[in-house]
Amino acid sequence: MYGGKVTQTRFRPDARYAWSAGEAMSRFLEELQNGRLIARTCAACERVLFPPRMFCELCFRPTDAWTHVLDTGTIETFSVSYLDTNAKRIAVPILVGVVSLDGASPRMGMMHYFGEMTKDDIRIGMRVKAVWRPPEERRGSVLDIAYFRPLREGEG
Ligand SMILES: [Zn+2]
Repeated sequence: MYGGKVTQTRFRPDARYAWSAGEAMSRFLEELQNGRLIARTCAACERVLFPPRMFCELCFRPTDAWTHVLDTGTIETFSVSYLDTNAKRIAVPILVGVVSLDGASPRMGMMHYFGEMTKDDIRIGMRVKAVWRPPEERRGSVLDIAYFRPLREGEG
């Protein structure tokens, strides 16, 4: 009927989007802006779930309460990256990895950058502390923490 022609039309939809991160993630991001890390507790298995979740996947039931965890922790694993976030080669590597936070149950990690240390200093099991961005620069994102640095003598 159209004789093999490609028909087309121009259409600019006036669609506006709002995306909800969900109850647990929304509260988590809000608390980051205040320089705090929040988790959920499950009364049945007595775990502290971080990042917070409204449902315990072990007990198959809703979690029970909010609780804060500390901004200190232990490096679980790490990677030395010679590529930046745009996959461009860099001379000084970026250190990234997973931190288990103090107060959360084991194997509840947060992926983040490491700073104030070199690829030769970093170790699994190393004790670290979050370096928060100044309050006016926080955006309710995991990047409200700039990076994790080595814990100093007398801290935590
Ligand atoms: Zn549970």
